[in-house]
Formats: sequence, structure tokens, C-alpha cells
Amino acid sequence: MKHFKLSILIILITLISSSCSNSYYNRRTFKYPSPVNTKDKSINLQVKKIYKEGNIFADNIFDGARMNDFFQINDSTYQINIKPENYPINDSPWYSFRIWSDSTREVYLKLNYKNGHHRYTPKRSNDRVVWEIINDSLVDIAADKSYAIIKTKISKNKTWISAEEIINTTDVNLWIDHLKTNGMTSGFNSIGKTKMGRDLPFFRIGIGDSYKKDVIVLLSRQHPPEISGFIAMQSFISELLNKNELSQDFYKKYDIWVFPILNPDGVDLGHWRHNASGVDLNRDWAYYRQNEVNTITKYIVNRAKKGNNKVVLSIDFHSTQNDVYYIFDKSFNTKLHNFVKYWLSSIDRLIYPFKTIHSPEPLSKPYSKVWFYMQFKAESLTYEVGDETDREIIDKKARISAVTMMDLLINGK
Ligand SMILES: [Zn+2]
Repeated sequence: MKHFKLSILIILITLISSSCSNSYYNRRTFKYPSPVNTKDKSINLQVKKIYKEGNIFADNIFDGARMNDFFQINDSTYQINIKPENYPINDSPWYSFRIWSDSTREVYLKLNYKNGHHRYTPKRSNDRVVWEIINDSLVDIAADKSYAIIKTKISKNKTWISAEEIINTTDVNLWIDHLKTNGMTSGFNSIGKTKMGRDLPFFRIGIGDSYKKDVIVLLSRQHPPEISGFIAMQSFISELLNKNELSQDFYKKYDIWVFPILNPDGVDLGHWRHNASGVDLNRDWAYYRQNEVNTITKYIVNRAKKGNNKVVLSIDFHSTQNDVYYIFDKSFNTKLHNFVKYWLSSIDRLIYPFKTIHSPEPLSKPYSKVWFYMQFKAESLTYEVGDETDREIIDKKARISAVTMMDLLINGK
């Protein structure tokens, strides 16, 4: 009898542990207290054209542009209508267009928002490489933020005016190409296509074989206008690719999987928030109704299963009004033992007096951050960067974050 009981116990333990490992490598769906409907919705496409008003021209014929209309309202003032791809939508009105004239002159440009409020400090560029922030004294914002009027000089040469620096899919791919010659990158690949046929790029950072290594996942651009978060990810990766003693030790145990642009359709369409199916991708990490989220989650689970990897940490780079870390509101029993908490306090100390808000949240919504915990019991973090945070600070903080992450994971706290 005693022997029989022991056998049952062993069978039960085997069943439980095998079901655990099965669920780890089988993508599951999740029910949350605040579910979100992520079924396809229709979107309005902007008309791509060159507008001509007297001897002033403006256009939106480039990837990442957003200008829904352009017309003259008095001698020196021109109105630019900015509309979202659909509604309801997050209040992040992205705008981006080019303007030029027969001769050099000063104009007033009225950015007029539908279903949104002025958020991004306007920037200008003559070459799309060097960007200049348009001084506050030249931007008049309506009290209710429904419009903003910019005073600026235009000339025969096209001037880009944009909510943030333009980093479209072509720019991201050029950056990825540039990383291919680094000895620590590999596996460059498209993991699938979007609704409009754009690639979803992936690459790996690591040394030697991936087999059985612990994995850190980096992702960005679920939300098209979130440029400052993407810039942070670029600096973070640049630091991870420095060949030194720390990184060489780090990659003996860890592998980094990078998904740099998850919403290329939305980015090139100049969307405020959604993909080409009109959906916020960072609300779809439960039922995978959208192709982008379906593809990445399947890819991660399958790749981890093949390599016998444990996914231990994910970092999703975003932007918002301030620098914020979205973290969990309580500690969980993860493989990295609440690593994020120790990591963030180290970063805070090293970047002082610059402050980042820590914003704890429950496991209530289908965000990517929550998925990595639910699927893999991984530590995870939404790394939010302020829209207008000084680009040098973004770079400095991201580099500190990368070095500190490697150091803590190798040498402990
Ligand atoms: Zn975001």
C-alpha cells in the first residue's frame, strides 16, 4: 500500500512537471481582468500629394509622413490638418510633412488636430538627418491644445517639419544592415510579413551557440510615433555590442533576441498608434488576433523550445510624456529573483539627478510586458522615454542601463 501511494505520488509529480514544461513551450491564451477588443477595425488613409497654395508647396510623399490637408487661411498663415488613422485612439497626434516656396520667406503654420491635442514639440530639418527643435517662442499653442501655430522660415529647399525625428522602416533597415558587420550579431531574418507585406525583422546578439542560454528579448515600435524609445533601444544595443571583458562573459550565459520594429505598417503610414488593421498592438498579447503579435509570440516560443532556452527578461521600448518604468506592482518568483527592481535602482543612482518615474501596475491588461511574465515567468519592463527628453541623456541612460544589466546578471547584486 505504501509503495502504491509512493508510485501515485511520483506519477503525479511527473504529470505536473511535464505539464509545466509543456505550457512553457506552448503558447497559451490569457484572460485578464481588463480585456481589450483587438479585432480588425477600418482605418482612413491620408491622400498622398503635393499641395500648392500660391507659391508655397507642401507634401506628404514619404514614409512616415502625416498631413491630411494643407491650405492657406490668410496672407502668411497656412493650415495643416492632422487626423488619426481611426478613433478612439491614444492622444498622440503625429505629424510630419515637407514645405517649400519659390523664394525664402517666413510663414505661420497652423497644426490643426482632429480627435487629438498638441503633444510633440515641432522639429525641423533640411536633410532629415540633423534635426533642430523649433524654439518655444516660435510656437503658439492654443489653451485647449486643439491647435498650435509655428512661425518658421521656408525656402526653395524642402524643409521637413515633424513631431519627432523621422525614423521609418527604411531607416530601421539601414541601421540593421549596419549592425551585420559586428561579430556579435547573427540570425538576421524576417520572421513574417505584415498585412501590407512589410517584413518583421529579427536579429540575435550573442557569441557561439544559443543552446540552453538564458534569453533577453528586446522590442520596439509597437506604437509608431515613439521615436525617443527607439533611440534608447539603439543606444542600449550599441552598448551591448561593445566587445569587452564584461560582454564576453555575459554572452557565455545569455542571448539577446531583438525585434526592433513590430509595427512597420503603422510607422510608414504615419499612424498615431495603430497598425494597418486599426489596432493597438500592445493590447493584443492575449489572443494574438493581429498578425504582428501572433508572429512574434509564436517565433519566440518556438525558438526557445528548439534551443531549450529560458526567456528570463523582456524590455519593450516606448515613449510617453515623461521617462517612466512600467513595472509590476508586486514581486514574483522569477528565475532572476526580482532583478528588475535592483537593476532600476542601480540605473537611477548612476544617472542621478535625472529622475525616472517608477510606475507599478497589476497583471491586468494584455501588454507585452505581462505576456512575458505569464508565458515564461520572465522579469519584464516597459522602458518609456520622454518625448522631448534630451537625446544625449537618452543615450547616456540607455548605455548605463545596458552595462548595469550585464554586470548585475553576471556578477550579482
Ligand atoms: Zn507605447
